[in-house]
Amino acid sequence: MEWKEILVRYGELSTKGRNRNAFTGRLRDNIKYAFADLPKFQIITERDRMFIRPNEKETMDQIIDRLPRIFGIQSFSPVASCSLELEDIRETALKVMKSLDRADKTFKVTVKRSYKPFEMSTNELQEYVGSYVLSSFPEIKVQMKKPDIDLRIEVRREAVYMTAQIIPGAGGLPIGSNGKSLLMLSGGIDSPVAGYQMLKRGVRLDAIHFYSPPFTSELSKEKVMDLSDKLSRFGASVKLHIIPFTAIQQEIQKQIPDNVSMTTTRRMMLRIADLVREETKALAIITGESLGQVASQTLESLTAINAVTNTPVLRPLISYDKLDIIEFAQEIDTYEVSIRPYEDCCTIFTSSSPKTKPKLEKVEFYESFKTFDEMITQAVNEREVMMFPKKKEDKFVDFL
Ligand code: ATP
Ligand code: MG
Repeated sequence: MEWKEILVRYGELSTKGRNRNAFTGRLRDNIKYAFADLPKFQIITERDRMFIRPNEKETMDQIIDRLPRIFGIQSFSPVASCSLELEDIRETALKVMKSLDRADKTFKVTVKRSYKPFEMSTNELQEYVGSYVLSSFPEIKVQMKKPDIDLRIEVRREAVYMTAQIIPGAGGLPIGSNGKSLLMLSGGIDSPVAGYQMLKRGVRLDAIHFYSPPFTSELSKEKVMDLSDKLSRFGASVKLHIIPFTAIQQEIQKQIPDNVSMTTTRRMMLRIADLVREETKALAIITGESLGQVASQTLESLTAINAVTNTPVLRPLISYDKLDIIEFAQEIDTYEVSIRPYEDCCTIFTSSSPKTKPKLEKVEFYESFKTFDEMITQAVNEREVMMFPKKKEDKFVDFL
């Protein structure tokens, strides 16, 4: 027997009607990208499913290992193949069963006989394989309705194909099928989780980070680079824009009353993010904000901050409790990086008692004494841009 191919079942793609080809094409490209370090293999795209055909056993194992992280896949199954010889069929069935966890499992054999001249009827072959498997593995029981293991055998003219295992995929949509957005990435716990969630909905990411040297250190910058690198391991590269923010923050401190300086800081960040978004042709801005978590995240605050732009600001975590976000961050392996101690550019400059209900008119009034436009343009122009992952072959190292 040999493992022949992997059968891939699409996630929500199948419901996308006329856009289906674009979606399956995107999924195929993403799979090629994710496995670019492996020897070349064939991908065959059909209407309702896809087949991946590696040439070597190691490649097959690697693909099975990593495929559960690719968005847009509902589930997949390794497919074995053998000749039409009865003995070959039953030994292959045995090997396929051996590769599975069988303890206390129920089982049945389902035969599909596409090649009619085959020497046995459907029932005969089911019986023949079933009894052979049972005599070899006394720990399993037969069950016709909803068995744990359904050993599917398809007899075709050229070969016999078998699958038994259905491995769950990551779900979601292929990255890039929903355009690109700009993620506001702090060094905290929330924003990487927000980024992951939008990746899963098919959104490609650029990230933007504001830092204020010398008040924030190289370490906090490194942290954001590491988080960008983590996010780039979910199947698409991430471009990070690092914005020098010190001058603007110092100006805010001079010009704006203490209790609304937080609001103005956020508004300046959003204005800069919007300019970078436009320049990089991203469609929306993503933040890790969650309603009521801190003073800047009340509805009044969000309203006053949001007033600087009409661009959609996506806040996937808006309804999440902090504990749920932490759990999520642990699952996607960003938590350990996020909890490294660092100075946040906002906490250093802003008031210890920010208004939870800032009035938009007041904030606009205070900001009207100084045009920040030039400083904003300068910050955008002086940004540092980096790509992640740094090296292509690093893509899947220590990932999940
Ligand atoms: P996080 O854990 O993501 O830092 P937080 O709970 O600390 O979130 P805030 O500091 O109020 O919340 O930030 C809210 C959101 O604003 C962040 O999730 C992020 O999207 C954005 N943000 C905050 N600080 C920065 C920064 N220095 N650079 C880029 N984006 C930032
Ligand atoms: Mg933060």
